[in-house]
Amino acid sequence: MPSRDQVSYFGAGPAPLPTSVLEKASQTLLNYNDMGIGITEISHRSPEANQILADTKTALATLLDIPDDYDILFLQSGGSGQFSAVVYHMVSSWVEKRRKRAEQEIKAEASDRALEQKVFDRLQKEVKEELRLDYLVTGSWSLKASQEAARLVGAEHVNVAMDARKANDGKFGKIPAENEWKLTPTKKQGGTGAALTYLCDNETVDGVEFPFFPSVLGAQSPDDERLVIADMSSNFISRKVDVSKYAVIFGGAQKNIGTTGITIVIVRKSLLPPRAPLADPRLLRDLKLPVGPIVLDWPTIAKNNSLYNTLPIFDVWVAGQVMQSLVQSYGSKKIAGQQEVSVRKAQLIYETLDAHREVYQVVPDKSVRSRMNICFRVRGGNADAEKAFLAGAAERGLLGLKGHRSVGGMRASNYNAVTLEAVQKLSKAAVAHMARSCAAERGPHGIRVNALSPGYIQTPVIADEEVEARSKEGIEHVPSAALRKAGGAQVLGGVEGQ
Ligand code: PMP
Repeated sequence: MPSRDQVSYFGAGPAPLPTSVLEKASQTLLNYNDMGIGITEISHRSPEANQILADTKTALATLLDIPDDYDILFLQSGGSGQFSAVVYHMVSSWVEKRRKRAEQEIKAEASDRALEQKVFDRLQKEVKEELRLDYLVTGSWSLKASQEAARLVGAEHVNVAMDARKANDGKFGKIPAENEWKLTPTKKQGGTGAALTYLCDNETVDGVEFPFFPSVLGAQSPDDERLVIADMSSNFISRKVDVSKYAVIFGGAQKNIGTTGITIVIVRKSLLPPRAPLADPRLLRDLKLPVGPIVLDWPTIAKNNSLYNTLPIFDVWVAGQVMQSLVQSYGSKKIAGQQEVSVRKAQLIYETLDAHREVYQVVPDKSVRSRMNICFRVRGGNADAEKAFLAGAAERGLLGLKGHRSVGGMRASNYNAVTLEAVQKLSKAAVAHMARSCAAERGPHGIRVNALSPGYIQTPVIADEEVEARSKEGIEHVPSAALRKAGGAQVLGGVEGQ
């Protein structure tokens, strides 16, 4: 049975968490803050729980520089629950805005009794002709979100402004140029604008990440802007984000942030009451538009400081610990510090794969490669070769690398808690597999492939007994007698000790 430090886990979510946080968590489960009871046993309305909530919000706001005019909400819905919440909220908000405008414009000319009916008639017409929800479909999660929108309000109201598969032979893996997107025109552009513009910042299954905020979605003017909603479930707190560009950012905790159980929503306050009241549920029903469950209702959650119903405070605590440790580690760099590490780790894997193109093929286009989910195939998707890769990786304690069934191949998820050492091990495993596969291919033709796989090389910097012992142990396994010798500092060509 391997111990925790012998395994490097690359699963797509749930995903690894820092061992130090889990060790502390195991203590808090038994006895939180010397209270004599564990954290999962205390009331979500206790002062302790309130403090955990406040601390977690502060850490997130610090890391991402979240402006004061945003609220941070915690819900239990999962990312999928927010696919629906987004639609309920933004449609209701859109209807209420239109109702107010219609009321003001019609008031002048109609008697009171006729007013309500006239407003309703006009709203019905506007919903039919102008209610549009724009979706940018770059992978299977944004596709799912757009399908949920169509299920809730009808496909006629959902404008898939871009389906990335169309630009890539029916498969996800590229993001077409912005000028090819068919966004609903804003007022300035002669249209009436969309109720929301939705994107998934990082597509977990397909390994596609928006390299930057699309400039075509930038704010026009306060009353004519695109209300951008971003699903950041799988790249939350991994890079700098200009929060002010988004109306809403949401994501589940179970990848970069913490344990499965909470979903975080960062929402612009101007989209919440009292500044933006929502439509009366009766009106929505009369308009044949959906009314969402109260537990997904952002205004209700905001008003109750995320404690409308029982919030899993333990999950909030774990998220808080993870974020506070990032705040401490990166200091004034904040999330940019984590971004540097994430980029370095992703680069190491991509560079290894790119260096051996005869064996590996990265699935998405270079321009949109995800730093978080690295999807690749072995030998054009040969099933046996991929099985062999996974088996070889597992022998080295590298687990969770099997790709999603819809893409196949391998997926190395490089979330924040995946260490640089784990990524280095994966790169080595990829090189070792490449060597083996070259040997297996050429063997039948009478060609022997000798691969040098440097193990421990003794240098003054790392001269200790353990290294010596491991080096000897490794040498015994080298099949060729000619190569069965220890590497000394001289083979490093003068780079030792750097
Ligand atoms: N969005 C993205 C980008 C995801 O990766 C996932 C889950 N892997 C979801 C949404 C759905 O999250 P949940 O399973 O928490 O509903």
